[in-house]
Amino acid sequence: MIVEAREALRHEVALANRIIERFGLSNAFGHVSARIPGTDTFLFPPRRSPGFADEQSLLVLDTDGKLLAGKGTPNSELWIHARAYAARADIGGVVHAHPPACVCLTQIGQPHRIVHNQGGVFADGVPEFKRIGLIRTRELGDLLAQSLGRGIAIMMRGHGITTAAADVRTATIAACFLEESAALQLRMLAAAGGDASRIRAYTPEEAERVRDQVAPGIVERAWEYYAAVAELKPLGG
Ligand SMILES: [Zn+2]
Repeated sequence: MIVEAREALRHEVALANRIIERFGLSNAFGHVSARIPGTDTFLFPPRRSPGFADEQSLLVLDTDGKLLAGKGTPNSELWIHARAYAARADIGGVVHAHPPACVCLTQIGQPHRIVHNQGGVFADGVPEFKRIGLIRTRELGDLLAQSLGRGIAIMMRGHGITTAAADVRTATIAACFLEESAALQLRMLAAAGGDASRIRAYTPEEAERVRDQVAPGIVERAWEYYAAVAELKPLGG
């Protein structure tokens, strides 16, 4: 990989980490990674809030969880990323975050439903990983990757979410859309007095019509906005 491309990817990964913190998907915890194209290795932040991520400090790990380059200790949930990349060659970016609305949905036993247009990206459904606790072993990483299947997102009960896509921008936008969607679903549920049947969730046919929410033009526009906010309001700035 040529030097410029590698540096651009480092910049994107660091920015994606700061985006998930700025937009309330994570606080002290959570992380975003990107595969180094054409390899079984990925860029991953060291053990610190994603809000502090910077391109120089990113580590290089492989899909066996081995630290290949960089100084520092990787986040203990590195296995989420390592085993997702191992399971699917089409994955170029992975986000793991602890967004509150998604956690709430899992804990009231409500499956994700498509309640607005941006939710269309989840038209194939968002599976739930029911086992609580952190993903700190290779085996659990494999189990999570298996539960994700060919999908773009999975909810993790009482814990958070993982999104996976062809590139780090798309995975990041999908994570933001998923939390937005879950937050809207919760508000609708509250406004409906807790009666889920009153939510006019999209039918499969309607969801199909708005599925294309991570098309290149949309991702670029969303990324431009999220990145600008993250750059303007750095953690502690
Ligand atoms: Zn976690």
